[in-house]
Amino acid sequence: MSQPERLDGAFVARWVGDVAREIRANRDYLTQLDAAIGDADHGVNMDRGFAAAVAKVDEDARRSPGTLFEIVGTTLVLSVGGAAGPLYGSAIRQMGRALDVSESFDAEGLLVLFRAALEEIQRLGAAQPGDKTIVDALVPAIAAFERALRSGEDLVGAAGRARAAAEDGMRATVPLQARKGRASYLGPRSVGHQDPGATSTALLFTALERTASRGDAT
Ligand code: ADP
Ligand code: MG
Repeated sequence: MSQPERLDGAFVARWVGDVAREIRANRDYLTQLDAAIGDADHGVNMDRGFAAAVAKVDEDARRSPGTLFEIVGTTLVLSVGGAAGPLYGSAIRQMGRALDVSESFDAEGLLVLFRAALEEIQRLGAAQPGDKTIVDALVPAIAAFERALRSGEDLVGAAGRARAAAEDGMRATVPLQARKGRASYLGPRSVGHQDPGATSTALLFTALERTASRGDAT
């Protein structure tokens, strides 16, 4: 068993960088998914937003983790169009507010932040599991993260479980009919396609697993 991790502003900055790389590598894939049931902008939107977030965080990398989450969230709200930017941005800003002025947090604290993010996304977007949205990846990811912590796994293990559960949730959106967002306008024609937002949520956890695996080595 490794030591309890202390996650700080540098950790948040590394995670944002890992997300930006993950989104960049999957930009065209996300856009193709959105072309099938939306307006083909999700990859471009997310790439623009996280590139802007990296630039902001680089200016302010020595700030507290809460401040960095707030900066990232605000940048996403301002620079990402569409439904997903404001949803992700507000959720990440909420994570920052939950941290307040703390200099660090641990894996249990991260679970609390995830819950705050989910609550904000559902407060704004009113999606339930099964509506073919971000929520379909986020809910199982948080549940798996919590189960892993309860069974004694460390941050890296729990992040891996969360990533795998997010990917399962993402794949499980394929047979669903969209009930929220632009894809819902297609009605039954949204069935048979993977949801772009659930896919980008899985990428956020892929990045988290990578950030956590590197530990303190920058
Ligand atoms: P837009 O649909 O406005 O073009 P994006 O393409 O950036 O926005 O994002 C689309 C994604 O947003 C969808 O795949 C879905 O996962 C997510 N989404 C849309 N509406 C909601 C909602 N109410 N709650 C959660 N996620 C949503
Ligand atoms: Mg779109």
